[in-house]
Amino acid sequence: MNGSVVVNGREYRLPAQPNVVFTIDGGDPRYLDDALERGLMPNLRGLLSSGAVYARGRGCMPSLTNPNNLSIVTGVAPSLHGVPGNHYLDPSSGEELQLNDPRFLRADTIHAVVQSAGARVLMVTAKDKLRRLLGCGEVPSVSAEHADTLGLSRLGIDRVCDVVGRRNPGIYDWDLSHYAMDIGLAVHRRARLDLLYVSLTDYVQHKEAPGGALADRFFCRFDELLGEYLREGFLIGITADHGMNAKPRVIYLEDVLDRAGVPQARVVLPITDPYAVHHGALGSFAWVHVGAAHLARARDAIAALDGVEEVYTREEAAVIFEHPLDRIGDLSVTADAQTALGKSPAKHDLSGIQSGLRSHGGRHEQLVPIIISRPLREPYATHHAAGLRNADIHDLLLNGTP
Ligand SMILES: [Zn+2]
Repeated sequence: MNGSVVVNGREYRLPAQPNVVFTIDGGDPRYLDDALERGLMPNLRGLLSSGAVYARGRGCMPSLTNPNNLSIVTGVAPSLHGVPGNHYLDPSSGEELQLNDPRFLRADTIHAVVQSAGARVLMVTAKDKLRRLLGCGEVPSVSAEHADTLGLSRLGIDRVCDVVGRRNPGIYDWDLSHYAMDIGLAVHRRARLDLLYVSLTDYVQHKEAPGGALADRFFCRFDELLGEYLREGFLIGITADHGMNAKPRVIYLEDVLDRAGVPQARVVLPITDPYAVHHGALGSFAWVHVGAAHLARARDAIAALDGVEEVYTREEAAVIFEHPLDRIGDLSVTADAQTALGKSPAKHDLSGIQSGLRSHGGRHEQLVPIIISRPLREPYATHHAAGLRNADIHDLLLNGTP
């Protein structure tokens, strides 16, 4: 295709060949480095030796799935796209809600605008929680989790798993992510896509550090599928929504605030999603909703804790994290790499993480890989080492390649 479109203030060239971005959920660069070093990813290794780009970039805060996936598909920060968490406190109802509905999205996706210019696009997500957000703007969107019941009417497909040729694995199976990649391939072979987005799931990364048996299997299979995409002629971008760290310590903030004599504070954990087995709703980022009269006392009590790194007011957080003012707490709190933040012990189901919590949400999981399967042209080639964000991946892929 020729021509370009403008999405959220940035110009994107229309895809001249099939393009795909893979977001490896929890795809900390340490997994890739370890797998490359041990020869588990020959296709990725081959790309890198023929000039592909592999840089470190940064995801947005909090380092969670929904905010980062939306930054990747819109190219902008949460202050503009409107999704600063998986979950938030709705100020009008006082209820905690999942941020998974298209009504929350305040920016266009690159895919919706590219589609309106005549391109064939598809969104695939392993976890169904992202499907409707990614499908905003009538973009065909499907989840591996529900591939047995979902169709893609715009692409003439009644039941997605029939196109793949086998049933989808369960939400807690190691290869649900690969099934999502299989969906992209199968639909492309039938409908010739111009721009494809595939978002994986981090179940394996929550379970195992780099070098674990399941992690090895995950990245070996990822690499095999990468080879299939290359053979189909795809130009490929790879990034992650966030990294992952072991978090042996948990600080329960409601208990801290009780002890400090702060009344009626409400702790909201934006990592909260329907998949409690991954993380028990514990990560390294929290919001505290507390009246103005008790704000200073709450801030002092939290900032004094060993393991807490940053505490910002709503106005400060809106600037520092580029967050929408109306969807965050009165305080935003980050913890160090080894520390997770919770409400109080009785409010967390930890039965799924008895082998030890591995999670994300804070600063130390902001480092992500940025991979483009071809060498970049200028000025992208010179600038790719400096200050890249995962939200730039479509710019690099569509604009930065020759
Ligand atoms: Zn994630």
